[in-house]
Amino acid sequence: MTLALNNLTIYRHGEPLLSIDVTVPPGQVVAVMGPSGAGKSTLLDAICGQLSDPFSYSGDIILNDQRMNTVAAHRRNMGILYQDALLFEHMTVGENIAFALPRHVHAKTTAAERHEQIAEQLSSVGLADLQDRAVQTLSGGQQARVALLRTLAAQPAAVLLDEPFARLDAARKDQLRHWVFDTIVQRGLPALMVTHDPNDAQAAGGPVIEV
Ligand code: ADP
Ligand code: ADP
Repeated sequence: MTLALNNLTIYRHGEPLLSIDVTVPPGQVVAVMGPSGAGKSTLLDAICGQLSDPFSYSGDIILNDQRMNTVAAHRRNMGILYQDALLFEHMTVGENIAFALPRHVHAKTTAAERHEQIAEQLSSVGLADLQDRAVQTLSGGQQARVALLRTLAAQPAAVLLDEPFARLDAARKDQLRHWVFDTIVQRGLPALMVTHDPNDAQAAGGPVIEV
């Protein structure tokens, strides 16, 4: 999958706010950096199909040569990871991930099969022992990892990261960054990360775009 933003301009009350033109190939993480208020979160809203008044955009958002032109297409294809993990606290890790599986997976599998699939996913990233733990018993770093796995469980075509490490302390950030970027690269997904931390951008290893 390739994500392209072709001459994309975000407007607020009809006035240009942010412009970007980039093609993100599979397995690359592009960092978007800019000051607070530059329109970075609004850019992610546009790519997710969640833009609302007073914002609008011109240009094209393209996945694999196909222009996304319905809200449903944006929602189905884009996986987003926020700075707060936003997990369901009263559920286990496994239940959180199962919740995000696409409807066709739920339709074709039993609960036991889903449990098995999720066990494999967790063990492939070194988190096998977390499956039956309640989310509220996890550390911040563990929650951040589970949040990414839940995002990926929905089988998105591209991933958006909105200041994904902002809430973690420095030592945890360092460990987590590499894990997150490696996991995205392993899945061969294009990713766009909004951040104001140059260390995030550097660790991502892809192009850095200033807005
Ligand atoms: P960033 O993520 O780069 O900090 P945002 O995308 O959150 O920037 O916001 C872009 C700009 O639009 C900011 O100046 C913000 O204050 C402004 N803004 C946000 N929401 C609204 C709104 N509903 N109406 C008008 N301006 C808004
Ligand atoms: P925190 O300090 O918030 O727990 P860390 O970044 O230190 O966050 O990692 C969180 C947890 O993720 C660890 O306690 C560990 O259980 C698990 N973990 C991270 N990497 C691995 C790994 N390679 N193998 C097994 N477990 C890991």
